[in-house]
Amino acid sequence: MLYLKKKDFEKSADFWLLADALFLGIEGPYAKSQHYLVQAQIEVNEKKATLASQAVLKAEQIILTLDQAKNLAMYIQLYDVKIDIAVLKEDYKTAFELQKKEKTLTDAYQNDVREEARSKYKVMFDTEQTLLKNKLLEREKQFTTVELENAKQEQQLKNMVIITAAILIAVLFFFFYRQRRTSKKLNRLANTDVLTQLANRRYTFLYSELELKKSISTGTAFSIIIFDIDHFKQVNDNYGHSAGDEVLINTAKTASKFIREQDILGRIGGEEFLAILSNTSLPQALEIAQRIRLAIETQLVSYDNNVINITASFGVAQFSPDKEDFISLFQHADKYLYKAKNQGRNCIVSE
Ligand code: GH3
Ligand code: MG
Ligand code: MG
Repeated sequence: MLYLKKKDFEKSADFWLLADALFLGIEGPYAKSQHYLVQAQIEVNEKKATLASQAVLKAEQIILTLDQAKNLAMYIQLYDVKIDIAVLKEDYKTAFELQKKEKTLTDAYQNDVREEARSKYKVMFDTEQTLLKNKLLEREKQFTTVELENAKQEQQLKNMVIITAAILIAVLFFFFYRQRRTSKKLNRLANTDVLTQLANRRYTFLYSELELKKSISTGTAFSIIIFDIDHFKQVNDNYGHSAGDEVLINTAKTASKFIREQDILGRIGGEEFLAILSNTSLPQALEIAQRIRLAIETQLVSYDNNVINITASFGVAQFSPDKEDFISLFQHADKYLYKAKNQGRNCIVSE
């Protein structure tokens, strides 16, 4: 068939003979009819019309058993050869008729081919479309996944920021609280007398001035009491310095009992104390001084199997806005204390 197409008729005839020797081994209508058609074509080329007709007849007998609609190509081939033979026989009328029939078949064949191609492309197109759709769906899914992932990450980031901020705030609060506690502690230490735990001299005076300003602005009475332990040097001399300390601690405690919550008692010197009494008149201050004096006089300080008795002398003064400031008030009270000492101690002196 190949040499036929190349118009090398000699070679095609040679091969056809080889094929014909094996003809008994050829099976199936297609191969068989094909064999005869090739033979017919070779005969046509050798201008042997009768032999060609015989070969075509054999091919036709087989081809006619085949369903024409499903084997158009085969039929067309058959017509081709038949037309060639008719031409060879110069029977142009038959050739023309055959040609017309073949044209119908060729049209049908081309329709088939077109339809086949169309459905093949349709399948391909549909497949492509489906693949594309799947791809889009897949991509959409990926986008959704990415979006979800992003949202998750964003949420995680938010959580982390919140947690970090919370930790930071907690740490800041902790440091702030510690700082405040430390500064409070330092303040207290700076303001406190270590031995008696009363307010120290510096703080007592600072506080006094502030309280006095308040009293002036509200027009309320303001009094102070200064007291000093009598012959305290002798306590140290007789019982030792530690015993003296014990007396100081005890005296501070005893006197504190008579000081109200809003007032303060400070240790302003070795064995010298100052009570600041806001909203207190001179008679009220004298009353308080009297109670403290009595309490000190009756308190028993035990130390090293010794019972130490002490007394204290008092100077009391009330602030008078027309004639003084805190310093002069203090100086007045101190003067009265000095007087009390001179009057024999364990007593209270005021204006
Ligand atoms: P007066 O009745 O005149 O006040 O006599 P006094 O002995 O109490 O006064 P003086 O000023 O002569 O003596 C005060 C003594 O207080 C002297 C000092 O050693 C002692 N003193 C001061 N501070 C402390 C202290 O913190 N602890 C002890 N144990 N003694 C102290
Ligand atoms: Mg004294
Ligand atoms: Mg003194």
